[in-house]
Amino acid sequence: ERAVEALTRLVRDIEDFPEPGIVFKDITPLLADPAGFGAVVEAMAAAGRDENGAVVVDKVVGMEARGFILAAPVALALGVGFAPVRKAGKLPHDTHQVDYALEYGEAVLELHRDAVAPGERVLLVDDVLATGGTAGATCDLVRRCGADPVGFAVLMELGFLDGRAALGEVPVHALQRI
Ligand code: 5GP
Repeated sequence: ERAVEALTRLVRDIEDFPEPGIVFKDITPLLADPAGFGAVVEAMAAAGRDENGAVVVDKVVGMEARGFILAAPVALALGVGFAPVRKAGKLPHDTHQVDYALEYGEAVLELHRDAVAPGERVLLVDDVLATGGTAGATCDLVRRCGADPVGFAVLMELGFLDGRAALGEVPVHALQRI
């Protein structure tokens, strides 16, 4: 399909970024291509619809920073609102905070307490699922608001890292599994 073709053609591997031994998936050529960008946004938005095309989520949450770029147009495609999950100290109003493990050490993610309402069904959106630390922490933040993470849409899943395990019962919708 068009979205997978766009990923294959327009995402490039950058070796030894941000550290030696890491191969980084660079999505900037994809973002620069309106047809490819549009195709992946439409394919990700399908994760927020049922088989008849009806929208089944109330909000889209995107994770800093590349998640924002994808989640905002997915939210508009679904006709629902967007909320940002950010690194500690960036959000101006009252937040929930969750610690999560990084490869070395830990970090904190935050979500405004009023960004997601109790009972809302929330679709998470990011570019890459690696270890699942970011996605797992985001699920926790959504639940702290009393809402329900109902799916995680992602361009690429690095299968060898088994990030899905961090998401438990929340289904992962990956356009491409590497
Ligand atoms: P995780 O928390 O699953 O280990 O890492 C996922 C987060 O790190 C995502 O927010 C994603 O943007 C970023 N990330 C990890 N590896 C890559 C990569 O190879 N390419 C890009 N674009 N992002 C990555």
